Amino acid sequence: MTALLEVNGLQAGYGRLQVLHDVSLDVAEGTITAVLGANGAGKSTLLKALSGLVRPTGGTVTFDGEEIVGVPVESLIHRGFAAVPEGGGVIQELTVEENLRLGGLWRKGSAAKETATAIDEVYDLFTRLKERRTSHGHQLSGGERQMLALGRAMVARPRLLLLDEPSLGLAPPIVSLIMGLLRNLRDQTGLTVLLVEQNVGSALGIADEGVVVSVGKVVARGHAADLQSDVKLRHAYLGF
Ligand code: ATP
Repeated sequence: MTALLEVNGLQAGYGRLQVLHDVSLDVAEGTITAVLGANGAGKSTLLKALSGLVRPTGGTVTFDGEEIVGVPVESLIHRGFAAVPEGGGVIQELTVEENLRLGGLWRKGSAAKETATAIDEVYDLFTRLKERRTSHGHQLSGGERQMLALGRAMVARPRLLLLDEPSLGLAPPIVSLIMGLLRNLRDQTGLTVLLVEQNVGSALGIADEGVVVSVGKVVARGHAADLQSDVKLRHAYLGF
């Protein structure tokens, strides 16, 4: 399978603090890749470096064959690249529908009609959001907010979705629901996902491939099922 996202020798950090030392990974089109590792391993920094929130100091990132380091976020979104930050970034003062419309802001040919069609598609995928369409962000449960964050990203009809800990703070049944939605999106729409998770079991349960990060370096990568059954690796880096 061709890689939609290719990361080679990525280095990044905050000022003089170098967090990512040499991160390389590939994400094949139409697959889910989980990025796992302990607290502080550098998972969120990796996602920020890929989505342009933190400027890499070395290495390359290619999306659909083109280098994307330094490319403005609007241009990334036009090309089908979407990122959902930790916590989702839902705007509390806006309604569900208004938040979803924001997802269409930078769409190619962002005609209102196209955005409305894309929002209807999101409502078909996430029926709970349809029921809550006039509720404000602050009135939503944690799970609904996470669905809204995902749905808003989907309004841009991305090919690649980067997600930072979508299960954080959610009860187990809601985590299963979110993971099931991601799996459906992959299976039904061919969406490619890079999923950063602390919740190793849930992430490997839906992922095709996994990457384990420790102190800013990739220490293991492989099929999700192989990583899950590797007891030594789990004990050393994944805490179970
Ligand atoms: P967690 O799951 O706890 O978020 P993580 O694997 O996502 O962990 P990062 O958030 O990428 O880890 O953090 C990696 C390192 O970078 C940590 O040492 C952290 O303290 C540091 N760090 C993260 N954000 C910043 C920042 N904005 N400024 C300075 N240092 C930061």
